[in-house]
Amino acid sequence: MGLEELKLKTREMAAEMNAVILAHNYQRPEIQDVADFVGDSLDLAMKAYRTKADYILFCGVDFMAETAAVLNPDKKVLMPDVAARCPMAGMLPREAVVEAKKKHPDAAVVLYINTLAEAKAEADIVCTSANALRVVKAQPNRKILFGPDENLAYFVQKHLPEKKIIPVPAHGFCVVHKSMLLKGEFDLMKAEHPDAVIFAHPECNPDVQDMADFVLSTNGMVEKARELPNKEFIIGTEQGLAYRLRKENPGKKFYVVDTAVCVNMKKHTLEKAYNALRDRKPMITVPENIAEKVRIATERMLNLTI
Ligand code: SF4
Repeated sequence: MGLEELKLKTREMAAEMNAVILAHNYQRPEIQDVADFVGDSLDLAMKAYRTKADYILFCGVDFMAETAAVLNPDKKVLMPDVAARCPMAGMLPREAVVEAKKKHPDAAVVLYINTLAEAKAEADIVCTSANALRVVKAQPNRKILFGPDENLAYFVQKHLPEKKIIPVPAHGFCVVHKSMLLKGEFDLMKAEHPDAVIFAHPECNPDVQDMADFVLSTNGMVEKARELPNKEFIIGTEQGLAYRLRKENPGKKFYVVDTAVCVNMKKHTLEKAYNALRDRKPMITVPENIAEKVRIATERMLNLTI
């Protein structure tokens, strides 16, 4: 079956079974094309929260599908490939959070949405890269246990000096943003395109964040690229976002680091997405004793955001 026919069949299947397809900004172009909504973690969590669909096909990584399942205990959450796991989320086991809480009983626990449900159940509140500043600022505590991304912790600390941010674990990271989006790449791109505006994701290293014109979540980048009159942009995040940026801004140029690929996000293919709908599996579930706690921490975030 050709790609266009498969896209059509996927859409038909989704309509037949009242399924909503949610795709992260880093997904393959053909998956973005069949999705009802393409967005970042926050946007997709909100879409999952509000959906009236019976099924959610989540094309993203493990913690995102878990969030959708937690927010929708009465809906069925499918994922094209369960091997799409975020290594950063795997860096923060529940025990590490429990240990940190014992050491810092006066701290609020703010965990990035890129955390697995078991650890997130220990959080007071969840945040995303789009709302981390707002969420941390809203905590009455000065001390904040923040994890798992050390670079996002740097971003929050830089903007909220009145808070004491304690990263948990000490050096959690996203392999794409930390190791594949290095300052030297941006120096080269800037030398080649001196008029380009630089966007960096807060998962990027501090030296990249510091040289960027704007530090933004992926949806923040989409909005800012639309708003600004500039014609050229250097994009400091996973290269999949370029597809959406180019599609929505045909008159503008976007330069990305082509090697900055999240292999986990790319585990989903259109064929696997179609098969997941057809077979009603693999299904993502979270045990209710954990889901209940994660729901509270996630709803606290959504209430601050919506
Ligand atoms: S891009 Fe980084 S944070 Fe996002 S899913 Fe991939 S490894 Fe995880």
